[in-house]
Amino acid sequence: MVTLANLHKFVEKGHNVTVIGPSAYHYYSGMGPGMLGKIYTPDDIRFATKHVVEKQGGTFVLGKAVRVDPDEKTVFLKSGKTVSYDILSFNAGSYVPATNVKDDVKDIYFAKPIEKLIDARARILDLVSQKKIVISIIGGGPSSAEIAGNTWGLTRDFGKNMPEIRIFAGKKFMSRFPDNIRRKIIGSLKKRGVEILEQGYVKEIKTRHITLESGKSYNTDIIFLAIGVKPSPIFEESGLPTGQDGGLVVNKYLQSTEYQEIFGGGDCIYFKDQPLDKVGVYAVRENPVLYHNLMAAVEGTDLMPFDPGGDYLLIFNMGDGTGVLRKKWILFEGRLAFIIKDYIDRKFMKKFQSIE
Ligand SMILES: Cc1cc2nc3c(=O)[nH]c(=O)nc-3n(C[C@H](O)[C@H](O)[C@H](O)COP(=O)(O)OP(=O)(O)OC[C@H]3O[C@@H](n4cnc5c(N)ncnc54)[C@H](O)[C@@H]3O)c2cc1C
Repeated sequence: MVTLANLHKFVEKGHNVTVIGPSAYHYYSGMGPGMLGKIYTPDDIRFATKHVVEKQGGTFVLGKAVRVDPDEKTVFLKSGKTVSYDILSFNAGSYVPATNVKDDVKDIYFAKPIEKLIDARARILDLVSQKKIVISIIGGGPSSAEIAGNTWGLTRDFGKNMPEIRIFAGKKFMSRFPDNIRRKIIGSLKKRGVEILEQGYVKEIKTRHITLESGKSYNTDIIFLAIGVKPSPIFEESGLPTGQDGGLVVNKYLQSTEYQEIFGGGDCIYFKDQPLDKVGVYAVRENPVLYHNLMAAVEGTDLMPFDPGGDYLLIFNMGDGTGVLRKKWILFEGRLAFIIKDYIDRKFMKKFQSIE
């Protein structure tokens, strides 16, 4: 985002900048569940990438990068098109792997890409206006919790058609988090009737049907897959050095450990010194360093090291106007927690949308 906002500075120095993306817009995931719950409109949470790139004199290429040849310095797109480079920045984020999903499953929505949650919202509203449905969320982490809470928020006014919402959480819901956070999130969801199943993992997903490893099966109308994310597959496809999770291995300068002209940030990298959580907080902290280092690489000046910093503020949007907030030893839930998240997220979006 910071590099995009300063793209004109590269152009003013005589460099050609090409931005490749599968959509003319970039959707901010921190507000994705809130958009699903109708707290935000799709416009509130998106950034007009193509417009901002072209306005500053860059070139926007609509497409998906699938591979890079680092020796030929060429990026290959799904469309067959190629883009050559001197300096390359990878910001392709992460995706939800379609584990155990049979081909052609209908009415299934992944936690990412965020723009697909717009379709999920429309489909749920269409179904609940006709009948009572079951919504199943597969996954036991924060995005599962936020999606469950916000589908409740989306459908709360549908009276007798209010859906049954069920989380398939594997063996333990929110297992990565301390008990005090787990208790607050579970309490918030359970008091609204969300069912949390912790009897084991899902083995198979078919249209309107979920089967657990135990053989027990459940009917459903809508499925959300929120089983965690993996870095973009581009690096493995390209034979670039990757970390255990498949992310591009980068040094303290956010630079590939093997190719000094390749940089990256966010969910798609594997920070060699200290593997980082896949949270936007790190993508945001990396932003100014990545911008500085891309500029330094094209101008031949000094690179700046990235310091991941300490503990970060966590706020979950529970979908009913409340949040759960944790920072170090501070932990509370309620309206204030959501108001703080809403303030931070809107401020972040406004800062970058103002460039439009
Ligand atoms: C539902 C949900 C809620 C979340 N809420 C929070 C939160 O509240 N706070 C927080 O800190 N973190 C949150 N996260 C985590 C956060 O989303 C990520 O850590 C953050 O988005 C990473 O930023 P990024 O720029 O690396 O990737 P992304 O935000 O995923 O952006 C990647 C971009 O690259 C594009 N792209 C993908 N593949 C290609 C390709 N092959 N070629 C070209 N372009 C491509 C995508 O279209 C997208 O625009 C949430 C995640 C999810 C799934």
